[in-house]
Amino acid sequence: MKLNTNFKNIAESYLFSDIAHKVNAYTAAHPDKKVLRLGIGDVTLPLAPAVIAALHSAVDEMAVKETFKGYGPEQGYAFLKDSINGYYARKGVQLDSDEIFISDGAKSDLGNILDLFDRHNTVLVPDPVYPVYVDTNTMAGRKIIYMNATAENGFLPMPDYSVDADIIYLCSPNNPTGAAYGKEQLKEWVKYANNKGAIILYDAAYECFITDDSLARSIFEVEGAKTCAVEFCSFSKTAGFTGTRCGYTVVPKAINADGLNLNKMWLRRQTTKFNGVPYIVQKGAAAVFTEEGQRQIKQNIAVYQQNAAIIAKCMDELGIWYTGGKNSPYIWLRCPKCMTSWQFFDYLLENAQVVGTPGAGFGKNGEGFFRLTAFGSREVTEEAVARIKKLLTE
Ligand code: PLP
Repeated sequence: MKLNTNFKNIAESYLFSDIAHKVNAYTAAHPDKKVLRLGIGDVTLPLAPAVIAALHSAVDEMAVKETFKGYGPEQGYAFLKDSINGYYARKGVQLDSDEIFISDGAKSDLGNILDLFDRHNTVLVPDPVYPVYVDTNTMAGRKIIYMNATAENGFLPMPDYSVDADIIYLCSPNNPTGAAYGKEQLKEWVKYANNKGAIILYDAAYECFITDDSLARSIFEVEGAKTCAVEFCSFSKTAGFTGTRCGYTVVPKAINADGLNLNKMWLRRQTTKFNGVPYIVQKGAAAVFTEEGQRQIKQNIAVYQQNAAIIAKCMDELGIWYTGGKNSPYIWLRCPKCMTSWQFFDYLLENAQVVGTPGAGFGKNGEGFFRLTAFGSREVTEEAVARIKKLLTE
């Protein structure tokens, strides 16, 4: 037996374990101090009542012979795919429900989609980046090239025609930078991908945070995207499903290459390797699109948006440069006093007992930057902001 030695090339991710180690050491040495965490990318508000009611009723259906469900369609039940289709239609995007595939979350599909692509494709990813794109391609032995996301380009790199890429990752609104592409910028990317015969893997996991109408909530709002893009989306941040697990991927029918159709390949891949998301979970997810569900999830999203605005206002008052905060739950700030990411991490922990995420953990261009998240409670956010403000104006 021979193992996949590409695994030797995956950098160990020490970021969150290093953070946990430092925070644990600090709390052990200072048991009297209250540490406030603005580092996590997980939601904190519970599922919406409409979702809970749908979950309960689906559980009851499972107890009755007439309504019990066994295996479902691998690509998802029509009731959920049609609800998602309606959601896209309201954004002005016309899809066929067969272009929508239900999954247990965006992370799985982002990794699994790579089954459809030859190992010899060149992959283009921004730096800094959500590490999953890099690690999944490294596992498959693909060549990765990086595009610089920097303060100069607002952490939104644009296409460079001198670079030949086959698979392009775009994440907007971005994790970790919070930066979000405008429709005009995405038009440039779509033009580049169609010109190069490349595919854009578009991660829209944070689309629900977009408030500005000049930004795209889906790459399919851009003409020409249906011949060059696949979109990944999730109920995780939209509706608090990080633990419940449900997402969806849009694979247009118009993408063809090498005598193959991408949509048909993905259906074949999913029906071969995946047996679908639980009926109960899909029922809960469908409730997100009811009038009541939409009203309730928007209330939750508004709580996080207000937290983001509170953090962003603090940065404005301190004169600290940042991206995100608006259209995103993340605030990506330049570390004050020319500190490195980890120096600022230590400085905040020791002097304000606030935990964030050092930007250097997301790539070399993240050095000197720091990520704060809006997913905490209002009380924690307000207290953390007050402590940061006090520390940095002392
Ligand atoms: N994409 C991005 C950019 C993320 O930040 C995350 C989770 O934090 C995911 C995808 C994963 O989403 P899911 O929970 O649907 O797997």
